[in-house]
Order: sequence, then structure tokens, then C-alpha cells
Amino acid sequence: MICELCGKDTPYAKTVLIEGTFLKVCEDCTKFGKEAKPEKKEEISFPSSQRLERRKMRMRTRNVYDNNVKELALDYPRRISNARNAMGWTQEVLGKKINEKKSVINKLETGDMRPDNKLMVKLEKALKISLTEEVKPVVVKKRKKSVYTLGDLIEIGDEK
Ligand SMILES: [Zn+2]
Repeated sequence: MICELCGKDTPYAKTVLIEGTFLKVCEDCTKFGKEAKPEKKEEISFPSSQRLERRKMRMRTRNVYDNNVKELALDYPRRISNARNAMGWTQEVLGKKINEKKSVINKLETGDMRPDNKLMVKLEKALKISLTEEVKPVVVKKRKKSVYTLGDLIEIGDEK
């Protein structure tokens, strides 16, 4: 390879910017110009990484919607006692129906005790109620303005 500046044969040529022109030069001649740097990596990868990020966010959002979680309702004590009263049962009667002590029913209705899954199912069956509520995912609202619209740019321009 011939140096485009001094004409010397060189095994390794560098592309440098000399007075506005890109020249392939030998090692000695690189000092006469600015080394031409390859395009910055960030500039190339930024848009695609942003796209990837958006796609990840979409997937995350969909997953949240797919898995609406059912959790014990906060007002389960009230739900139990209301349903029991509607049935016309005492705590003792309800206890007998689901094979639990009256004290357990009492604790449930005062909120001193959280029913485990098994007990919850028994209560729901006996009282024909639901003790769970769906935990709705929090929907994050889009930020109003993430990019400037043309109108914004005009406004900014007018502020001079
Ligand atoms: Zn040279």
C-alpha cells in the first residue's frame, strides 16, 4: 500500500483527514492530519436499543395483564359476617358447617386471623361468597409530552 501523502510503501495505512481530504497515509504521515475515527457506536445502536427497550416494556405490560392476581379481600371480615348473617347462621353454625371452631370464625370476623387458602375456599363455598379481589395492575399513564411537537418548537423560537 502506497502512502497517499509521501508515496512511501507502507504495510499499514491509516485514513487521516488532511485539509478536508481523507487520505490513506503511512504511520509517519498520520501526524500531518487528523485521524478519521470510525462512526461512533452509540449513534448507530441508540435507536435500536430504544426500540428494544420499548418492546421489553410492552411485554412487561402484557404480562402484568395476563396474571391478574387474586388476593384476599381487605374487607374479608365484613364479607364473612355479612354472609353468615344473611344465611341466618351463628358463628357456631358456620363453624360446624366448615369443620372449624367457633373461635376461628370469631377471629376471622374480627380480622384477627387471615384464612389460609384451604379455609378461604371452605368459607366461600359455605357462604356462597368470594373473599378475594383481583389486584388490578397499576396503569402508568403516558407522559403528556415526551417529544416536542412542531408547535412547541415554534413557541420556543418565539421566546428569543
Ligand atoms: Zn507517508
